[in-house]
Amino acid sequence: MQLHEYQAKNILSEYNVPIPFGQVALSDSECEKISSSINGKVVIKAQVHAGGRGKAGGIKIVDNPLDAKKVAQDMIGGTLKTFQSGGTKFPINKVYVEEASDILKEFYLAVTMDFDEKCPVIILSTEGGMNIEEVAEKTPDKIMKIHVNPLIGPSPYKVRNLLYSLNLEKKISQQISNIIQNLYRIFKSLDCTLIEINPLAITNQEKVIALDAKITIDDDSIFRHSDIEELFDETQMNQSELKALRNDLAYIKLDGGKVGCMVNGAGLAMATMDITMKAGTAPANFLDVGGSASEERIEEAYKIIASDNDVEVILVNLFGGILRCDVAAKGIINGFENYNKSIPMVVVLRGTNSEDAKLLLENSELDISFAEDLPTAASEITKKLKK
Ligand code: GDP
Ligand code: MN
Repeated sequence: MQLHEYQAKNILSEYNVPIPFGQVALSDSECEKISSSINGKVVIKAQVHAGGRGKAGGIKIVDNPLDAKKVAQDMIGGTLKTFQSGGTKFPINKVYVEEASDILKEFYLAVTMDFDEKCPVIILSTEGGMNIEEVAEKTPDKIMKIHVNPLIGPSPYKVRNLLYSLNLEKKISQQISNIIQNLYRIFKSLDCTLIEINPLAITNQEKVIALDAKITIDDDSIFRHSDIEELFDETQMNQSELKALRNDLAYIKLDGGKVGCMVNGAGLAMATMDITMKAGTAPANFLDVGGSASEERIEEAYKIIASDNDVEVILVNLFGGILRCDVAAKGIINGFENYNKSIPMVVVLRGTNSEDAKLLLENSELDISFAEDLPTAASEITKKLKK
């Protein structure tokens, strides 16, 4: 689960990581009011779940409360699409209003998991502010890492050695070192998958502060953090993905594909995606109904796939174990009847009650081809795709 910048900054502040003064505004007049309480320049920042806002016009610096109001008027109620948002336009419902900082240098600092080393890792780069993926690709030597033993935490000597190699003034490196320890405390206490501060700014007044903050919490541990669960902003999510989440379905919309895939089990989902590629097209989604989906959940799954305008053919590939194929078939038929949208379907069913399921589907109004195996399914898909 991703947090907004303003929510992440509240957490940073609780854990003694310095941030500039700022408050969130829901309207232009609120933005004006907060701006008038700030001396000097003010930064207005669109609160959306996408990075790269700066380049996309989602960050504006203004001189006075009236201009702040104007910027908020334009932003709130609008949308923002950035190079990181993958084509999605995120609605802007809130802006963060912050005192502008006098930046001397911008660093990058993150804590995340290193799955190769199987431990948390602290990542620091002197090339902050910009796209870190680009830095990693062009100048990998500018990215420094400290691997953390989870039983000990970040060893102070490792942090010291790393900061020493940057030839920073003691005053600065002391602040960064404290920030690293505090970020790690957040990472651990809140079960984060990522904390990213980009930029971590060094100001002309020799203060180190977090100018931007991104925190992502591991979805599997949200149940341990009810206070954080409340921070979830469902407007920032693809609405079909949200519906899926509410129905306990693992659904991910994919770009560019034409085949909607209804599958149970992640392994089968992967294989199914390979098969659609083999049919000369790409999957439009990844939908795993899970091992024990009910009729209602299958109906929801059908509706989610059918409501995707990219989908020309639906490939149903289910293995009946705990999930009974006839239950799945009923769910699909209900979805089709209640949603009243027919999309050609290729169906592979094996396992518990698969024969009953085929009978049910054959007797429905759905346009269905059955396949005994995945290669046959692939050629059936090819036949059904629009030319
Ligand atoms: P992002 O583009 O979504 O990552 O948004 P950021 O919060 O990182 O802001 C992008 C850039 O705006 C930063 O790298 C800074 O260069 C600039 N910026 C943000 N806040 C301030 C500020 O208080 N003062 C100044 N001068 N620049 C700022
Ligand atoms: Mn940033």
